[in-house]
Amino acid sequence: MVVDPLGEGLPGPAVVDRRRRRRPAHVQTARKADARSARSRSGFPVFAVALLCRRLHVKSNLPRGEKLINDLRVGDVAALMRDARKSATYKPALLKALVRRSREPHVARLSLLDLGEEFAKLYWNQTVIYHLRQAASLSKEAAVVRSIRETAARYKTRSLSNLPKSGQTDIAARLAAILPVNVLGAFHAGKPADMPDLYRWERGWPYVEITRDAHQFLRANALPLELIANYFWADLLEHCNRLAPRIIQKVSRDAASRKSLQKYLNILLAESAATCFYCDVAFDTLHAPTVDHVIPWSFLLEDPLWDLVLACGRCNSQKSDWLPSEDLLQKLLRRSRSGLRRPTSSVSFLITDGDVEQLYQAAISVEWPRFWSPA
Ligand SMILES: [Zn+2]
Repeated sequence: MVVDPLGEGLPGPAVVDRRRRRRPAHVQTARKADARSARSRSGFPVFAVALLCRRLHVKSNLPRGEKLINDLRVGDVAALMRDARKSATYKPALLKALVRRSREPHVARLSLLDLGEEFAKLYWNQTVIYHLRQAASLSKEAAVVRSIRETAARYKTRSLSNLPKSGQTDIAARLAAILPVNVLGAFHAGKPADMPDLYRWERGWPYVEITRDAHQFLRANALPLELIANYFWADLLEHCNRLAPRIIQKVSRDAASRKSLQKYLNILLAESAATCFYCDVAFDTLHAPTVDHVIPWSFLLEDPLWDLVLACGRCNSQKSDWLPSEDLLQKLLRRSRSGLRRPTSSVSFLITDGDVEQLYQAAISVEWPRFWSPA
């Protein structure tokens, strides 16, 4: 569930009012006019962005210190994203790609290939690891998602960094080819009336033109802009992946960081039979026990004990991130009922059989790869 940090629920106006009371009259008037114009231009209160940054411990002195460059405003970009959130994830993705490329020194022309490369980084894990749908309709698959799936299948890898150089060039070029069709021409549609464009692009150009001012704006406001993009991207994905957990983390994280499961090995060995949960082979020198998630880690994004089992290396690697068969789910629930439900620091909630079944159904509903059972 994403908390709406930019919605009406925040005590934004009160914060501004308190500040105004402490300042001399002429400053008050100027600040009042400033706040009014920030609102009326975009309909989006800039201080809400400032509060969001503060809440997320992002260093930003908005709105007083917002880097106003050639009339570009963070609040206006937020308004552009807000109005786009029901359509496609391309807008937040392009915003993130522009922000990331602006970490480099300014170049007047940013090639579509470079943007394609950023798109590959942004969409790869969401597609290959987290299996997130980017479109609400089941019959409609985003072109970006299709290209990434095909590339992952062709090169037989789940990791973008494991793609050979030719594969990386290939996926960047495929995604660059999508940009003129659906993305670049539509990005600024619906922007606040006075907001300058972040880039210029005309049909047939293999690049976008970025002014020095826009580059400076993107660079100076990189953190709040990325937060805004992540928030609206996650908001859209919640509509397309109704029951998938931890969407905001799946959108924000570039690389999935998994913790070692070593500490669970002894707990499981003490409480379960010394056999593979899946194929029942007894552990010995040939079959060393490993720890595996029954409902895949990449769906849950955590290591709750109720989900962890001992598995032989063969089953563990064969199962990969697939959902187990219904039989194996029932076996997991039986084990839970028999006592292995001890809370650990990584389990922050009590979970019932119904909750586990619901998570399993949620994974099925987002078309997670399924159903695996030992050969
Ligand atoms: Zn096994």
